[in-house]
Amino acid sequence: MTTFESFDPDTGAAIGSHPIASAADVAAAVMRGRDAATWWRHQGWDGRRTHLRAWRRQIAQGANQLAEVMHRENGKPVADALLEIMLALDHLAWAGKHAKGALSLRRMRSGWLGINQAALLEYQPLGVVGVIGPWNYPVFTPMGSLAYALAAGNAVVFKPSEYTPGIARWLEQAWREAVPGGAQVMQVVTGLGPTGAALCRAGVDKVAFTGSTATAKLVMAACAENLVPVLIECGGKDAMIVDHDADVAAAADAALWGGMSNAGQTCVGIERVYVAEPLYDRFLDELTSLVRSLPVGPGENSAYGPITMPGQLAVIQGHIADAQRDGGRTLTGGHASASYVEATILVDVPETSAAVQHETFGPILVVTKVRDAEEGLRLTNASRYGLGGAVFAGNAGRGVDLARRMRSGMTSVNSVIGFATVPSLPFGGVGDSGFGRMHGEDGLKEFTRAKAVTRQRFATPVPVLSFSRPRWVTVVLGRALRFLHR
Ligand code: NDP
Repeated sequence: MTTFESFDPDTGAAIGSHPIASAADVAAAVMRGRDAATWWRHQGWDGRRTHLRAWRRQIAQGANQLAEVMHRENGKPVADALLEIMLALDHLAWAGKHAKGALSLRRMRSGWLGINQAALLEYQPLGVVGVIGPWNYPVFTPMGSLAYALAAGNAVVFKPSEYTPGIARWLEQAWREAVPGGAQVMQVVTGLGPTGAALCRAGVDKVAFTGSTATAKLVMAACAENLVPVLIECGGKDAMIVDHDADVAAAADAALWGGMSNAGQTCVGIERVYVAEPLYDRFLDELTSLVRSLPVGPGENSAYGPITMPGQLAVIQGHIADAQRDGGRTLTGGHASASYVEATILVDVPETSAAVQHETFGPILVVTKVRDAEEGLRLTNASRYGLGGAVFAGNAGRGVDLARRMRSGMTSVNSVIGFATVPSLPFGGVGDSGFGRMHGEDGLKEFTRAKAVTRQRFATPVPVLSFSRPRWVTVVLGRALRFLHR
C-alpha cells in the first residue's frame, strides 16, 4: 500500500506515515461498516449510549496524549487542543444521552380524517455514514458528525484531512480499545483528495463533509451519481456587529479571540467587524492595544500556532496585499515569519476587496466603520457566506433582534462562538457556507430517515379509502371540507 507523510507545521518535519486508501480499500471499509452497523443497531439505545460513554472515557483518559498529537500535527497550543477535546466530549455526551428521546418510536396525533389510525413515527439510522473532515479543528469538527451519526445508530467511515491523519487514527484506536466488540463501527481511512472522492462513491448512505465550498461542490457531484444525500459544512466570512451602546472593552476582547484564536483558522471565526460610528475610534484603540500585547511566534507562549496548511499562507498574504492595493491600511501585523502570521488589523478596506469577500482563514480582522448597526447588518448579510456571527449591544433585546435578522446559521450576542459550546443547538450555515445541521436534535435527525407507520385500529362504518364507498360519501366529504376550511 502506498503511503503519505504528515508534517509538523511548526518545523516542516515529517512526523508520521499513513496509508493512502485506494477506492477498493474504501469500498471494503464501507462493506465492513455495513456488517458492523447491524451489530451496532442490535445494541439498542442504552447499549450504544454505554459504548459511546466508554469511548468518551477512553478519550478523556488519554486527553493529554491526544492534545500533544494535535499540537504536533495541527500546530495549535496544547491548551487550545485540550479545550477542543473538552468541547468535543461534551457533544459526544449530549448525543449519547439524547438520541433515544429525539429519535425513538413515538405515537403521533392522527387527526380527524385518520381517526381510526394509530400513527407512529421513528427516526431510523441510515446505515453507514461517510465523514470527510478538516484539519483546523480535527477533533471537534468531525465529532459533530461522528458522535451524532453513531448515537443515531449508524456505523461511520471517517476520512480525515491529509494534514491531520494521526489525530484521526488516535481517535480510531481509542474507539477500538473502548468498544472492542464493535471495532468496525467507527473506522478511519486515510489518504488524499481521491480517497475522499472514493468515499463518496463507495456505497455510503450519507456523506457529512466539512471543508471548502469548492471541494463541497465536487463532493456533491460525486454523491449525485448515486443519489447519496450530503451534509455540507463549509467556511464563512463571519461578521461581528458592534452597536452604538455596546461594551467596547468586551467587544474588542471578543473580536481578538474570535479573529485570532487558532490563527484565524476557524470556520466560525470572526473575519469582519462592523462598528457603529460613535464607538469606532475607542474600539480600534482597545483592539490594537490588545493585539500588540499578543505573543505570536514559535515557542510555548505563543497565543496561537502556525498556519497548518502551507498553501494557506499565500491566500492570507494575497488578501492583505489586495486590501492594501484597494486603499486599506494595516494597523497591526501584516507579515508572516516562517509559518506564523502576525495578528493583523485592516481598516478602510472596500467591501469589494478579497479580504471582505472571501474566506481568509488567517489571523486577520477587517474593521469597518458603519453609520449604525443596521448598516452593519446590511453589509454582513451581503456576503455569499452565512455560517455564524456575533452582535455586541448594550440593549440585549436589540442584540437578539439583530442576531435573528443576521443571514447565518448561528449568532452569538455579547460573546463570540458561544453557540458552539451548547450541544443542544444546531450548527450549520446558509448560502456558500453549506446546508444541513450538526449538533442538537437536528444533528441527530440529520443521520436518520423518518419512518412513518399507521396501524388501523378499527374499520370505519363506511369505507372511505376504498372503491366500494357509496356515492353519497363524496357529497358528505364535499360538505365537510367546505365546513372545516371555511
Ligand atoms: P478541502 O475542502 O480541500 O478539504 C476538506 C476535506 O475534503 C479534506 O479531508 C480533503 O482531503 C477532502 N477532499 C479533498 N478533495 C476531495 C474530493 N475531491 N472529494 C472528497 N473529499 C475531498 O479544504 P482544504 O483542507 O484544502 O482547505 C482549503 C480551504 O477550505 C481553507 O483555506 C479554508 O478556507 C476552507 N476550510 C474550511 C473549513 C471549515 O471548517 N469550514 C475547514 C477546512 C478548510 P485532503 O485533505 O486529503 O485533500
